[in-house]
Amino acid sequence: MKRVVVVGGGWAGCGASVGARKRGVEVVLVERTSNLLGVGFHGGMHAYNGRHTIMLEAKALGGTEIFEAVESAFKYRVDLPHQKYGYLYDNFKAEGAVRRMLERMGVHVHFERTVTDALMQGERIRAVKLNNGEIIEGDAFVDATGGAGPERLCKEYGRGCVLCILRCPHYGPRISLTAKTGVKETMARRGDGKFGGMSNSCAVDRESVTPEFLEEMKNKNGCVLVPAPEGIAEDYGYFKKVRTQQYYSQDEYETYLVTVDVGAIKFVSRPYVNYQVLREIPAFRNAHFVDPIVGGRGQAIRFLAQAPRLNTLQVKERPNLFCAGEKAGYLVGIMDAKVTGLLAGNNAARVALGDPVLELPRRTALGEGLAWINEEIQTEAGQYKKYSFVGTGGLYQHLIDQGLFTVDPKVVEERLGEHGLLNAFTA
Ligand SMILES: Cc1cc2nc3c(=O)[nH]c(=O)nc-3n(C[C@H](O)[C@H](O)[C@H](O)COP(=O)(O)OP(=O)(O)OC[C@H]3O[C@@H](n4cnc5c(N)ncnc54)[C@H](O)[C@@H]3O)c2cc1C
Repeated sequence: MKRVVVVGGGWAGCGASVGARKRGVEVVLVERTSNLLGVGFHGGMHAYNGRHTIMLEAKALGGTEIFEAVESAFKYRVDLPHQKYGYLYDNFKAEGAVRRMLERMGVHVHFERTVTDALMQGERIRAVKLNNGEIIEGDAFVDATGGAGPERLCKEYGRGCVLCILRCPHYGPRISLTAKTGVKETMARRGDGKFGGMSNSCAVDRESVTPEFLEEMKNKNGCVLVPAPEGIAEDYGYFKKVRTQQYYSQDEYETYLVTVDVGAIKFVSRPYVNYQVLREIPAFRNAHFVDPIVGGRGQAIRFLAQAPRLNTLQVKERPNLFCAGEKAGYLVGIMDAKVTGLLAGNNAARVALGDPVLELPRRTALGEGLAWINEEIQTEAGQYKKYSFVGTGGLYQHLIDQGLFTVDPKVVEERLGEHGLLNAFTA
């Protein structure tokens, strides 16, 4: 049986594993930590704005299993400021649901193993080497290692290691498969002359907030706008410059702590909040951070390793290597990672089997989004942005302008049907 090796078990790697299995190849997934979902472990805001459209497209292409896993952890259907058509899910339940789904699909997952090297044959990868010396051979590979950290770069471009979910001090640094094949990657630029972007939210343990606040959360469908007290982000200038999603630089997100229930209680668009000021709010008098553990000081720095890629998600000059998620170019978000993962994994399987790869037409939201980002990042201004189907980098507006945004599954099916792409992941 042909084999695809997926490196990195964040949302992109989980999507890639599903995408490859749908094509009938053996899939091995290697993840350096103890769990799946990567930096998205405390995500929970799902399918908002243009992300809804690419979810419908991915479902119509045949990649349903990963969405069913998330939907099993559904918590609240609620609109958020500037974000509509989506819902909140429980992150703790989602991780288990995705793990079990991959198991059912027959994906071999190696936890607590890091890919440390690529063994090459010309431009093609023949095998990867793990930190325990094991060699795993494959016919095609997916790099889903993200672009966060490691500690050294969080220090250089942020406020040092704040013990985020990646836990580099224990598990060691992120290692990029693409870079190990000799391909040069790029780092996202930002306004203060440095690189990367600070993760956009932080979260406290739900047991550490008052029962009255949790009750209010429940009554308001999982989202409470708490007036932001003075000093909650005392160095607001720095904060605004470094955060990943500039899309959130809008009124409500400045005036309020936009607080959502995603298993943990998350402050949206706040990489950090001043711990002492937070504790002055009655609901948070016992607040205890879960991500990052050093809450109140900063967050992880991401977008430090983008692979040059084609619109099929093949890494340039590496015919049997594909990339997905944050690795695939300035792309932020759980949905963005899952859906690019599905495509990258499916195309890796196609290469393994000797089948033609899929390049989605620009009359689809995903096809247009991937092509447009690739064009944008060729420009000087484009390298200062991040992109997301929820809105960041102008991508959602671009889809609206192109007439591609829709939340109607029938419209999506018709569009894909016109190109003969219904269930293309399995066909
Ligand atoms: C705190 C926080 C909250 C967020 N909330 C939301 C949200 O609510 N909604 C939303 O849409 N987006 C959210 N995002 C953004 C979203 O989570 C990310 O954009 C997305 O999850 C990135 O996924 P990824 O798989 O590309 O990368 P990552 O999550 O970075 O995954 C990479 C994985 O690769 C592993 N890895 C790295 N190197 C190796 C190696 N050599 N060998 C083996 N494994 C390796 C890492 O351990 C990691 O698990 C949030 C991000 C953060 C940080």
